[in-house]
Amino acid sequence: GARVIAIDGPAGSGKSSVARAVARALGFQFLDTGAAYRALAWLILERGGDTDDEATVRGSLGALDSLELTVDAAGQRVVIEGHDVTEAIRTERVSGAVSGVARTMAAREAVNVRFRAIIADARPGIVAEGRDITTVVAPDADVRVLLTADEAVRIRRRFGDVGGDEFQVGASLAARDASDSRVVDFLNAADGVTVVDSTHLTFDETVDAIVRLASE
Ligand code: C5P
Repeated sequence: GARVIAIDGPAGSGKSSVARAVARALGFQFLDTGAAYRALAWLILERGGDTDDEATVRGSLGALDSLELTVDAAGQRVVIEGHDVTEAIRTERVSGAVSGVARTMAAREAVNVRFRAIIADARPGIVAEGRDITTVVAPDADVRVLLTADEAVRIRRRFGDVGGDEFQVGASLAARDASDSRVVDFLNAADGVTVVDSTHLTFDETVDAIVRLASE
């Protein structure tokens, strides 16, 4: 059977909740890789720094030694330098700053080393989600999925989660995807990657589609 399931996709595709539900259904661990980028962005903002400054991002990478990412399907806890940032990394402020971290190649390489170790150690298996899991972090995963949905649907779902101003939510989601997709292409499926388009699927149907791929 499958042991490693890799899921990539744009912001608001539902990757994280879908991946967690797939992990729960299979009794697997769960890794939300965006949390590591968000934790670094949170730390840089906390120190009054600018995530768009590459030297600042590189200077923050030592903090990765203190990063704790629990990989429990019930919910991932994120701790950096002793601060539990599980909730704090979900704010719009962090979302607006995180792409600067993701653009710094040294940051990508540093977090990827940790992700690969977590995936290698995972028992009995793991669902890992992000932007470059199917292509860079775990290209040899047993199941590789690109989870997509039309942008309008993604904005509506994200707006349903975070509230606020729908226009603002849409603008920041589109800006983050535009910036992120210049670094890694998560808008087109790589060879061997199965596209699951959730535009017309319910949450449960989306989860089932991926669980089925894992059982093939
Ligand atoms: O998935 P999430 O929205 O939490 O990811 C936050 C940010 O982390 C993304 O906008 C992207 O900049 C970065 N990221 C990445 N590669 C990944 C996961 C996340 O560049 N594998």
